[in-house]
Amino acid sequence: MPDSSERLPTFKYFADPYGANTQRKFIESDLECDCCGRVRGYIYSDSQYSDEDEDCVCPWCIADGSAHQKYDTLYSICHKDSIGADEVWHRTPAVESIQDFTWPSHCGEACVFVGDADSRMLTSLKEPLAGELRRLAKAYDMPTDELISCAMPKGDIFFNMFQCRQCQQYQLHADMD
Ligand SMILES: [Zn+2]
Ligand SMILES: [Zn+2]
Repeated sequence: MPDSSERLPTFKYFADPYGANTQRKFIESDLECDCCGRVRGYIYSDSQYSDEDEDCVCPWCIADGSAHQKYDTLYSICHKDSIGADEVWHRTPAVESIQDFTWPSHCGEACVFVGDADSRMLTSLKEPLAGELRRLAKAYDMPTDELISCAMPKGDIFFNMFQCRQCQQYQLHADMD
């Protein structure tokens, strides 16, 4: 039986990998972790960058780096010079994205992934996201409002939302299906 007395590890650069967000990275499971050999109640559900036999890894083994040490797993790419880069590369769940992307940094540090944003969230954060929305509207060559309405689940664009740990500014990564 899973030992439920343990507190789930948190991740400095990934706000809520257990939640109901579209980017739920750990699922409840009675499977044994391949890395520590224990049944701890949760298993990593992303296999984007690892081989099949590395799939069954618990959050603790990702957080303390033992899964990386054992399997040499690379979770995400982040600017090498950023504070926290090593943690994002090796000890943080991957952010799912259709195309490979570089984990954003700001103020010299890797940003925190706060979740995927849908149209409603983008609208409610229109002000603090203004700069980012302008940048993306230009990149996608469409008006800002149209860009917002294209957010998943209704539209074709995924918005991964990050936030700077130093100045709180949001960074958006957009990905088209
Ligand atoms: Zn483990
Ligand atoms: Zn910043």
